[in-house]
Amino acid sequence: MCEEKLIIDNHQQTSEHMIKIKLIIPVFISIFCFSISCFSQTPKPLKTIIVDAGHGGSDAGAVGEYEGSLRSKEKDVTLAISKKLVATLQRELPDVKTIPTRTTDIFQNVNEKARIANQYHGDLFICIHADSGPLKTARRQIGTRQVTHYKTTYTGKGKRKKKKITAKKVEEPVYQYYKLPMKRAGTSVWIFASHKTSDKLKAIIDNEEDYNIEADDSLSNNVDFNSPEMKPIVAIYAKRFQLKSINMGMLVEEEVAKTGRPTFGLNQRQVGIRVLQSTNMPAILIETGFINNEEDERYINSERGQQELAESITEAVKRYKAMLEGGSSANNLVTKQADDPQPPAPATDKYTSRSKNVLKRIDIKQSNFKVDLYDDGDIDGDIVSVYYNGKILLNNKKLTEKALTLNLTADPTRAENELLIYAENEGDIPPNTALMVVTEGSNRTEVRITSDEKKNGVVIFAKK
Ligand SMILES: [Zn+2]
Repeated sequence: MCEEKLIIDNHQQTSEHMIKIKLIIPVFISIFCFSISCFSQTPKPLKTIIVDAGHGGSDAGAVGEYEGSLRSKEKDVTLAISKKLVATLQRELPDVKTIPTRTTDIFQNVNEKARIANQYHGDLFICIHADSGPLKTARRQIGTRQVTHYKTTYTGKGKRKKKKITAKKVEEPVYQYYKLPMKRAGTSVWIFASHKTSDKLKAIIDNEEDYNIEADDSLSNNVDFNSPEMKPIVAIYAKRFQLKSINMGMLVEEEVAKTGRPTFGLNQRQVGIRVLQSTNMPAILIETGFINNEEDERYINSERGQQELAESITEAVKRYKAMLEGGSSANNLVTKQADDPQPPAPATDKYTSRSKNVLKRIDIKQSNFKVDLYDDGDIDGDIVSVYYNGKILLNNKKLTEKALTLNLTADPTRAENELLIYAENEGDIPPNTALMVVTEGSNRTEVRITSDEKKNGVVIFAKK
């Protein structure tokens, strides 16, 4: 504690020097020094907000690629929304300094963005991004063409063997290939999860390879969060910023949900959001919408959509500021929990908020069994979360014709093990339908699972 105090006192003189050092020493050490140097015991009011328009310049981010898309670039969308957000924040909170990381189409890597945020001593860092994901390719016939096929035949044997080539004209279809838009739509809010790996977080990390948060993918992320050098940084971040980041993220999530657009809750990730981790302040990243979803792309490119997002985020900032400065019970909550940061588990509320519909009981003889989940019937974009004995295993996963595989172990302390399917949506064709295939040794059982906004689909596994 003494050492930290000492550094705070010297901070004014050393900060300029430190910025110079930061440029030449490895990034993880610089973050460490910076974090320690700014450590303070009293809660800071909200004086400075940094708004980061994701990507920029040669880094376009995600681009609209589906047929009929606006071909918009994420870097332009994030800049337009950020500009409106900065203007709205300055209007609504004139006493707070709001600083953009960029106001033009320039390239900045994540270290540069974090450096700006730290240099201005931001109290809150808001990154604006737009989401994307892999697109399916489809084809349509646009005509035919004449092609000549040649057939070679032989007559005779030995020296008399003769080769004969016959030409045959055939009509072949000509196809045009195009990209289909994504069905997934909506806003998600991300924070950097810096402390122990919760089950929920583990589920996200293990299962979301295909749904990568793209924020920093253009840069290699060599930071090993379990390394001895990183551990103190991670601990400091956890103590100081994580709860505030969670609070801010939840408020944004709430405010965006009020507009009626789909939201994906507050998500946390231990790796891959370096820009959040590198900033010495509470930080959130907002994926405003999917650039490859037809409706979302138009929304995030429209004046109305951009302004609505800017106002929702501003409203969240106002509530966050009141929480920090009001000395209300909400503020006490932040301070009290800061000693032992425990991210709230909104998923648990979801888990208990709907009634359970037990669809099948399966007797199992072995402790280990496999569950494969597919979309049943039409592949219509059904999204589910899956809980096993109350713990989340899959979070917000899309069902497709490809299996989502779970390798499960029967809990020896339970007579019954419960697998619960929570419908995150009802796809294009309600209700949410899944085909579950349970494999235990050589036994195979199929269960059709339906779940909707009132009922969770439940399968019970009883150990014989
Ligand atoms: Zn991005």
